[in-house]
Amino acid sequence: MCRWIFIVWIAAIVLTVPKATFAEEKMDEDTIYEKRMELYKKAEAVSLIPWYYFAAIDQYERNVQQVRRDLPKPTGVLGIYIKPEIWAGPLNKNPHDTNPFTISQFGGLGIDGNGDGLANREDDEDVIFAIARYLQTYGIDHQHIKIALWNYYQRSKTVDLILGKAKIYKKYQTLKLDDHVFPLPLHANYSYRDTWGDARGWGGRRIHEGTDIFADYGVPVRSTCYGIVELKGWNKYGGWRIGIRDINNTYHYFGHLNGFAPNLREGQIVEPGTVIGSVGSSGYGPPGTAGKFPPHLHYGMYKDNGYTEWSFDPYPHLKAWERSEKQKRKKNKEAQQK
Ligand SMILES: [Zn+2]
Repeated sequence: MCRWIFIVWIAAIVLTVPKATFAEEKMDEDTIYEKRMELYKKAEAVSLIPWYYFAAIDQYERNVQQVRRDLPKPTGVLGIYIKPEIWAGPLNKNPHDTNPFTISQFGGLGIDGNGDGLANREDDEDVIFAIARYLQTYGIDHQHIKIALWNYYQRSKTVDLILGKAKIYKKYQTLKLDDHVFPLPLHANYSYRDTWGDARGWGGRRIHEGTDIFADYGVPVRSTCYGIVELKGWNKYGGWRIGIRDINNTYHYFGHLNGFAPNLREGQIVEPGTVIGSVGSSGYGPPGTAGKFPPHLHYGMYKDNGYTEWSFDPYPHLKAWERSEKQKRKKNKEAQQK
């Protein structure tokens, strides 16, 4: 009898625990954005460091976690992961220490942000206040934040990615920057199919890292996302090309362009639909080479995981953006007719 009660009790725990976490996961996107913004603004209020730096660090870490297996998944609404030994202090014998006093004695980053007496590295408020205080020890202006980030991550690319995101958040004053569009105007005449991994003839043995979208010379090429122009110039394979980094650490590569949009410069913020150049056939030789193949846009996507960057197939994304843009246009037309 007693054993049965025990089994039922265990079963109840097993059945209810995943349900509770599932409910949290079901929190809708707007609520999550609101909760995150609340935390960033709180950190801003205590540290005087603008909220978008916290948003940028959090977003960078969340994206890295999504593509890495060695990092635990976030438990709250923030993505910032602080290693136990950094939180508790490198010489602390207890890496899971939650005592704010001993943590501070061992030089750990952890603090009690929400006033519950514990420095808990799985508590969003404790984490964001710990980051705020860490940055604050360097200074609250851009240059000092940059130095603080470098000392924390020890990788200049990570610092650039975070500061790029901060710039985007600052400009738009919102966290909702997930919109995408297809790279060519939908009314243009174009065609494409999945050419991921195809062999390439020019420049030795290479694998095709992208999707070719065939269209006429001069068809406008648009940014597909909110992002920053990270690169603009010539490459013997890609010809005149542009690279845009979005807020998800993804790098969008536009190759074989006929030319660039006037005044487009590296470091510029673009949004979905911003014209960045036009379709061409540049590439496969020294600067200015063109016409060695039919005009098309080469579209590539690359992901950064905090160590390295690799390419992935953009085709499913292109299809999805094309579809959702078509649906939006249809909805707008219907709304106008009403
Ligand atoms: Zn291509």
